[in-house]
Amino acid sequence: MIVPATGLANLISMTYILALDQGTTSSRAVLLGHDGRVHGSAQTPFKQIFPKPGWVEHDPVEIWSSQFGVAMEALAQANVNADSVAAIGITNQRETTLIWDRKTGEPVYNAIVWQDRRTSGFCDQLREEGHEPLIQDKTGLVIDAYFSASKIRWLLDNVPNVRARAQKGELAFGTVDSWLIWKLSGGDRHVTDVTNASRTMLFNLHTQQWDDELLALLDIPRALLPEVVGSSEVCAKAAGALQGVPVAGIAGDQQAALFGQMCMQPGMVKCTYGTGSFMLLNTGDKPVRSRNKLLTTIAWRIGGKVTYALEGSVFIAGAVVQWLRDELQIIRSAPEIEELAASVPDTAGVYVVPAFSGLGAPHWDQYARGAIVGLTRGANRAHIARAALEGIAFQIADIISAMESDSGVQLKELRVDGGASRNNLLMQIQADLLGCPVTRPANPETTVLGATYLAGLAVGYWPDEQTIAKQWAVDRRFIPALDEPTRRARQAGWTRALDRARNWETA
Ligand code: ADP
Repeated sequence: MIVPATGLANLISMTYILALDQGTTSSRAVLLGHDGRVHGSAQTPFKQIFPKPGWVEHDPVEIWSSQFGVAMEALAQANVNADSVAAIGITNQRETTLIWDRKTGEPVYNAIVWQDRRTSGFCDQLREEGHEPLIQDKTGLVIDAYFSASKIRWLLDNVPNVRARAQKGELAFGTVDSWLIWKLSGGDRHVTDVTNASRTMLFNLHTQQWDDELLALLDIPRALLPEVVGSSEVCAKAAGALQGVPVAGIAGDQQAALFGQMCMQPGMVKCTYGTGSFMLLNTGDKPVRSRNKLLTTIAWRIGGKVTYALEGSVFIAGAVVQWLRDELQIIRSAPEIEELAASVPDTAGVYVVPAFSGLGAPHWDQYARGAIVGLTRGANRAHIARAALEGIAFQIADIISAMESDSGVQLKELRVDGGASRNNLLMQIQADLLGCPVTRPANPETTVLGATYLAGLAVGYWPDEQTIAKQWAVDRRFIPALDEPTRRARQAGWTRALDRARNWETA
């Protein structure tokens, strides 16, 4: 059948993409139209389970029911049903690990969340046995409890019968994307996409396959693993209330944000300023091996073509603002920090190093602790507030410079999102310290947009990346205004402040 162009346009304008954004603390669903506008959205928090210090779990049934519930609510808001949904896109908290029964769909245990540290000892042991170079070569990751592999191993070793059942092929492992798709498809499809697979520590970046040598090393049966699919292709059809709707896009949350920020070209970087801060640099069709212990990861795979990224994260970003609010009580709300910090022209030599839980890339010092240095008799809370914002921006600048040195590309622009990116002063400080423009998009929903676009491209809802790139618009661009000698002097001061914070804890 040939549909006249105008007919096709009408058809498309009456349909939507449903984005499921399954985060660490809440499930969200957003219904977007062809113009990228929101037509319905709903969000619900769910229970965080802390069985022991350092352990974090979620109830898989609640993950699914909350996610399904908000999806239905988003459709109801727009007053439409499944017939009006052209495709579903999924973006999810990464690394969180689930195992369930292939027949009954029953989880064998709670989901072990990415933050969970119960497998740190096992990871130390792998490192001591000298496996780090092999694992980094194959997966692009450092050995850490953060990734799924050691969590799978824990479930196999600690939950009764799980290993035996896994060996018989009765069980399925998945990250949250897999679980949602399995539930959405009524148990028909057990898949994950390459971005989520690249966070398991079992996926070979070069062959794009699960790696048998790593599976043997970690003693994980292959029969547990999902089929790996691209980030933008129809990989399942929904059953039940969403009957027939194709699941057509999947990406881990940070990768989805990179796509939603339209960082499609090598050299483009996004930074999300939340509680912590996550940076991804698009490195094109080559996985770049980091010399600074950044992670090498898959940005997406579209039409068989893989795009890679370098990833770095800062543990404490917006969290230092929460600390000033809740612990020091020098501000009453997070946004108040901007006015307070702007009430002084500079920090009067004060530096805040927010190393509350050690320092991540590129410093990697788990014994570092937070410090406020350079105090003089005239230093006041405004100087400390300003220095705290600088402390966020300096940590990010350190990662960017590690990314530049690993990849050999010089940053031309930083695209930003997340709660703390609303702080104009912080963004200006960031531009000043980087010496390059910082750009905040008009639509801050970059994660949801990424999942939406990946799904929409797969079903022809949008014809190509150029078309969606036109929907990306600038809210504000921050141009560096600091002279080079001052920038260098501030940077040198930060380096000295870091030295004071380093290697503090002796235990
Ligand atoms: P997450 O997804 O990690 O929960 P959000 O993207 O919602 O984070 O951002 C919340 C974080 O941003 C909090 O740590 C908060 O302190 C910080 N934040 C929010 N608004 C501002 C602001 N105007 N200035 C600085 N930090 C802010």
